[in-house]
Amino acid sequence: MKKVIVGKKNGKSVLQIYSSIDSRNVSEQKILKKYPLIFRQKDLPMTQTCMCWGLDVGQGWHKLIDTLCASIQGYIDANAKHNPNIHQVEAVQVKEKFGGLRFYTNGEDEVIHGMIWFAEQLSNYICEDCGTMDNVTQSEGWITTLCEKCRKKRSEDKHNT
Ligand SMILES: [Zn+2]
Repeated sequence: MKKVIVGKKNGKSVLQIYSSIDSRNVSEQKILKKYPLIFRQKDLPMTQTCMCWGLDVGQGWHKLIDTLCASIQGYIDANAKHNPNIHQVEAVQVKEKFGGLRFYTNGEDEVIHGMIWFAEQLSNYICEDCGTMDNVTQSEGWITTLCEKCRKKRSEDKHNT
């Protein structure tokens, strides 16, 4: 869900930006709070970071992102003290692109890069709406990664609006 609404009021264009934490759903809020160092940029304005959009993906990928962040933070916590080359990373944008997860940071080493690469690959097989790996397909054209049920539901919702 995008948090920008463009409307008209008294003939003037109105731009509203919703990036308050209240507009984020429960599991998203939980993940953002669980990894405060990775998601340090979540409350910065949109002029400074894309993280003001939060986790810009469906709920079905939240568990995957949670697992990815646990791996990243675990690796940093275990190694940064002894190795000056290992630094805390911050997410700068988390979104869906071409049906897959994209997790961008402010710079990561090759270990964390591998973790992110693996999670991004895996997202191609996980329904973005419900999180199942059963009967998941990627559509042609505007690519979405969804299970059979969620794909049906989305097309029904589309026809009803
Ligand atoms: Zn689904």
